[in-house]
Amino acid sequence: MEQEIQQAEEQNQKSDKKYILQHDRPNCIGCAACEVVAPDFWEMNQDGKSDIKQGKSLENGCQELEIEEKNYNENKEAADSCPVNVIHLVNKKTGERIT
Ligand code: SF4
Repeated sequence: MEQEIQQAEEQNQKSDKKYILQHDRPNCIGCAACEVVAPDFWEMNQDGKSDIKQGKSLENGCQELEIEEKNYNENKEAADSCPVNVIHLVNKKTGERIT
């Protein structure tokens, strides 16, 4: 058990996924700006709102995806382009919300 925890911690330290991309989907107004600036991570859904591609859906309707440092800029741009500020980036290690 202890070994499993240690292995999980090591795996976590090795992971390049430094940020958590969050989408407050219920409050998305479907303007499609995120899809335009970061199409590798964002796509419009038939219901008129956007989705994080491969994102995990939460019970409250929000979505999350862990991303690597190299994908930070395009998602920061998506967050900056969102007119209703429903895209957030969180530092996985510190829990600090960057945007
Ligand atoms: S930019 Fe914001 S409001 Fe527009 S589709 Fe993307 S998440 Fe929704």
